Amino acid sequence: MQNYYRFVNEPLPYSFAALEPYIDTETMYLHHDKHLQTYIDKLNQTMKDNPSLQIYSLEELLHNVEDLPSEVQTSIRNNGGGVYNHRFYFNGMAPQGERQPIGTLEDAIKKEFGGFEDFKKKFTDAAISVFGSGYAWLINDSQGKLRIITTANQDTPLIMGMCPILNIDVWEHAYYLKHHNLRPDYIEDWFKVVDWNKAEGNYRVCFE
Ligand code: MN
Repeated sequence: MQNYYRFVNEPLPYSFAALEPYIDTETMYLHHDKHLQTYIDKLNQTMKDNPSLQIYSLEELLHNVEDLPSEVQTSIRNNGGGVYNHRFYFNGMAPQGERQPIGTLEDAIKKEFGGFEDFKKKFTDAAISVFGSGYAWLINDSQGKLRIITTANQDTPLIMGMCPILNIDVWEHAYYLKHHNLRPDYIEDWFKVVDWNKAEGNYRVCFE
């Protein structure tokens, strides 16, 4: 993943239609080529106007957003966060793959939540609870403990020093064309396209 200015909108690792019938083609196209593209364009504009920031990776910018010049903080938080969160979301899904936790993450989910079904219920409740626009995340906290959290708008767990494992975008643009106002139906469909191999890989990175 290309993590430095100038940021580019890399193609999805699967086709726009690949997640049918759970996530529809038009939503995937608009979400990636229009919504994510806009965040990338706005982030690039801020980076272009502030050359001193160009030495930092996207993750470094987000980790340290509070130490950046005050006039760029809002753009980095919203547009940088928008790029990071969307890439994480798109890469966390796949047309084929493990549809439940595997490996070390499976063990950790069992230990922390009692099992996949209990986790699924808690994660779904958290995703439903996001008021307005935001995300639900499975993260590894600084004590090495799995937690489900929610973030508003394009805030990232990186700002809070957490290690992300899995996220779901619950902005309406992620599901409105197919699921209309029924966010719980979208969450249920999303679980059918989660790539747990990827989540396991993300979890392992937390301990490197
Ligand atoms: Mn989105």
